[in-house]
Amino acid sequence: TTTPEMDEKLIERISKHPCYSEEAHHHYARMHVAVAPACNIQCNYCNRKYDCANESRPGVVSELLTPEEAAHKVLVIAGKIPQMTVLGVAGPGDPLANPEKTFRTFELIADKAPDIKLCLSTNGLMLTEHIDRIKQLNIDHVTITLNTIDPEIGAQIYSWVHYKRKRYRGVEGAKILLEKQLEGLQALKEADILCKVNSVMIPGINDQHLVEVNKAIRERGAFLHNIMPLISAPEHGTHFGLTGQRGPTGKELKEVQDNCSGNMKMMRHCRQCRADAVGLLGEDRSQEFTKDKFMEMAPEYNL
Ligand code: SF4
Ligand code: SF4
Repeated sequence: TTTPEMDEKLIERISKHPCYSEEAHHHYARMHVAVAPACNIQCNYCNRKYDCANESRPGVVSELLTPEEAAHKVLVIAGKIPQMTVLGVAGPGDPLANPEKTFRTFELIADKAPDIKLCLSTNGLMLTEHIDRIKQLNIDHVTITLNTIDPEIGAQIYSWVHYKRKRYRGVEGAKILLEKQLEGLQALKEADILCKVNSVMIPGINDQHLVEVNKAIRERGAFLHNIMPLISAPEHGTHFGLTGQRGPTGKELKEVQDNCSGNMKMMRHCRQCRADAVGLLGEDRSQEFTKDKFMEMAPEYNL
């Protein structure tokens, strides 16, 4: 839904992005390519065997591609699904912990399929370091996963943060991450790049605090807030520090979303898609375009 104060230019910018516009998500599709395996932090709810739990569906293992394979895949899919408007790099680790792979992928797509909008998801630790490259490549949508603005709470969510060749633990690590996330958000605002903030709701840890998070990100110009439930299921394996942690009920999630919604746009149509998702939100066509299949479909796109 759009609000009256949104100007036409902004509506145009989000109108083909299924995650940023609720209307668009019925008509336009997005795809993810999994090119970024490494991560620079350790979230306590993340099991590294699976896709980054900050943007993706937990418990899913995406097929890792090189930037060239990813570009090949994008060209094949763009030819087959005309509603495909957005390409996102969202994992399986943190895209900005793999800057060469991530930006090489974006460069190839910008060059070969310039109509496709570029979207990036990150934990935010390295955002300010790469903001110039993000601007240069015309990446118009960035998601930061920001679960707290309080380092004490952060210490319960993140077990370590690897920054500038050093590993920081506890409150010290959380403090660095949280500062960098807010600086990153500000840098996006200054660059006029639309920013969505994801927050993973963890009962007993940050649930009561998310209204404050909402206020902080709104003040810094975030466009959309997506509060997502922690999904913890035994089949996802042991989570590092949050073993036995439950996720919120639907009612608890809605309550927090409602408490924030007086303040800004909330995303309520998120489907927590996989790092190699293809299709409309809520629809998963990733298995139609696995590596062996897309390689065969259009060998002429092989880079
Ligand atoms: Fe896992 Fe967190 Fe890194 Fe995502 S940002 S891959 S959830 S540790
Ligand atoms: Fe971008 Fe996230 Fe939507 Fe993927 S799911 S297109 S990374 S906002």
